[in-house]
Amino acid sequence: LFCDFLHLHSSHYHHGRSKRLLISRFFQPMNLRDDRMTGAGRSSELSCKSQRLMLQAGLIQPANTGCFHYLPFTVRAMEKLVRVIDEEMQSIGGQKVDMPSLTSASLWKISERWDLLGKELFRLKDRHNVEYCLSPTHEEAVTELVAMQGNLSYKQLPLMLYQVTRKFRDEPKPRFGLLRGREFYMKDMYTFDVSEKAAMETYNLVSDAYTRIFEQLGLEFVKVQADTGSIGGKMSHEFQLPAEIGEDRLLMCSDCHFAANVEAMMGAETNCPQCHGKLRESKGIEVGHTFYLGTKYSRILGASYSNTENKPIVAEMGCFGLGVTRILAASIEILSTEDNIRWPGLLAPYQVCIISPKKGSKEELVTELAATLYDTLIDALPQLHGEVVLDDRSHLTIGKRLKDANHLGYPYVVIAGKRVLENPPVFEVSCQNNGKTVFLTQEGVLDFL
Ligand code: ATP
Ligand code: MG
Ligand code: MG
Ligand code: MG
Repeated sequence: LFCDFLHLHSSHYHHGRSKRLLISRFFQPMNLRDDRMTGAGRSSELSCKSQRLMLQAGLIQPANTGCFHYLPFTVRAMEKLVRVIDEEMQSIGGQKVDMPSLTSASLWKISERWDLLGKELFRLKDRHNVEYCLSPTHEEAVTELVAMQGNLSYKQLPLMLYQVTRKFRDEPKPRFGLLRGREFYMKDMYTFDVSEKAAMETYNLVSDAYTRIFEQLGLEFVKVQADTGSIGGKMSHEFQLPAEIGEDRLLMCSDCHFAANVEAMMGAETNCPQCHGKLRESKGIEVGHTFYLGTKYSRILGASYSNTENKPIVAEMGCFGLGVTRILAASIEILSTEDNIRWPGLLAPYQVCIISPKKGSKEELVTELAATLYDTLIDALPQLHGEVVLDDRSHLTIGKRLKDANHLGYPYVVIAGKRVLENPPVFEVSCQNNGKTVFLTQEGVLDFL
């Protein structure tokens, strides 16, 4: 009954208000092949496959070094990724907040990271000469936020706050497009617990949620022991996507489960510290990083809770980062061919592209059939609401538009070609994930999708 209701409701909505999404109206500068646009001409920015493909397909455009305009397709993919992340973070008790990017220097001086971060920190002053930075991460800010609440009750813990916001880092080598920007999106979660034991349970809970995120995206990953870097703390792991272009060197044991970033090992060891098996080296893109912080920030900024005896106790913290824009670029880097973007199915900006016929004989009839297919798909399949585009650029050949569709990586492309004039009309459906093409009637297309 509920499904019927949804179905009725969605067809009503469609006929009442929504319009067909037409490629001819999209803001999407395609095929930018000159060096100026791809950034390849700039000495500070090296190009890589995902950067080249994203520029050519009109997904991003360079703004200044390490900063990009995210164009509509990218924003849609990012919104989908954030939805996956939100679901997983909230399923384990995460509460979403949004903290300012402009953070007072005084806070960073308390943690002594104002000096520690050196040139990586974007620093600025307001009109009263007060110093600030554009936050590269938010341990100080969130700990102060929690400290300002006075003692939390032990009953309120674990407290898990997270956000998805822009981060700013004056990277020494911004490059590879969204893989290493100076302004990028990160999901960062901060957790507060009653004890080290409870903090470790929370640590594992968040790590498992990260595992589920990468599984849902269909991305192969390795979890490695990591250096705690300038964030500090006692224990840390990274989620790495194996890729030749990766800037991290990983050591993995061929006999046991040991895996570590070389940054976390002493010297260039060749044998596993756990089983003495042989270590192999490979490269990875760091897409997530988890830290058990202990009381490093909570102690100095006074984030505490009252225990069962009503005594104030310093909270045990963890922090957990995911590179949102980096995951997008890394998945394109890993899944795509040299010419065509392939997305994790869940992130494809649109699921289906219908290509209408080229201008010419019988054009009107065929155009009508393509439009009918569009409306029927959306009426019959609520999950395709807002997910189907019509490539109505009828001055271009079907071949040229199919090439564009392949570049962009829609999971399904439906072509209204010559065979739509048969009775019943036959459409050509090509699936990007297996490269297969099938010929189907309108009914068949519905069943197939
Ligand atoms: P890297 O070693 O690549 O510089 P990091 O260790 O400095 O990364 P963290 O401080 O651990 O980064 O931040 C959490 C996550 O934010 C990283 O795992 C990564 O996915 C993402 N990230 C970090 N720096 C950038 C950047 N410059 N551009 C895009 N994403 C980034
Ligand atoms: Mg870094
Ligand atoms: Mg790192
Ligand atoms: Mg890191």
